[in-house]
Amino acid sequence: MSVEPGIPSVDNESLEDRLYTVKYEDPGDSHLDVTIPGICAEKCRTDDCAAVCPAGVWRVGEDGVPEIAYENCLECGSCRWACPHGNVEWTYPDTGAGVTYKHG
Ligand code: SF4
Ligand code: SF4
Repeated sequence: MSVEPGIPSVDNESLEDRLYTVKYEDPGDSHLDVTIPGICAEKCRTDDCAAVCPAGVWRVGEDGVPEIAYENCLECGSCRWACPHGNVEWTYPDTGAGVTYKHG
């Protein structure tokens, strides 16, 4: 397979390999949250935030409320739109913090 100059090949790279190329500057505080934890615990049956996140940021515990590993966030915004209850608080990290992609 030919590869165009300047365009990196991603052949044979796993998702983990690609995530390893992402750099993250920790803002020191989460830019993600749930608005009302009780909605997660008592109303949500689908945990879509966890299902759609490509980086495994959302882990729903036994109490039904997600723990949020914001340090791994790719800032794709999927969780914000996936939550059927509009219960995701989502902002970009402070300027200068957050994710940096190696290839743009
Ligand atoms: S999808 Fe929304 S309501 Fe359900 S656990 Fe995630 S944040 Fe909570
Ligand atoms: S913005 Fe994307 S990567 Fe970040 S927590 Fe939401 S779904 Fe995961």
